[in-house]
Amino acid sequence: MILATSTGVHRVDDLRAEIEHLARLAAAVLRDHTDDAGRCAACRDAAFPCGPAYLGEQVATLLW
Ligand SMILES: [Zn+2]
Repeated sequence: MILATSTGVHRVDDLRAEIEHLARLAAAVLRDHTDDAGRCAACRDAAFPCGPAYLGEQVATLLW
């Protein structure tokens, strides 16, 4: 099956692999960037949720 998007034509198998990779990446980010008493455990001196945690949550919401 072929999927056409604004970025071009992709084989569905390739798209599925990319989505799975993105889901694994989001899970890894969410494992590391956790709430440590209002601060991010991975980003020193950053309030939680930090930028990566916010993006990870957005991706997780879209994919899971
Ligand atoms: Zn962080």
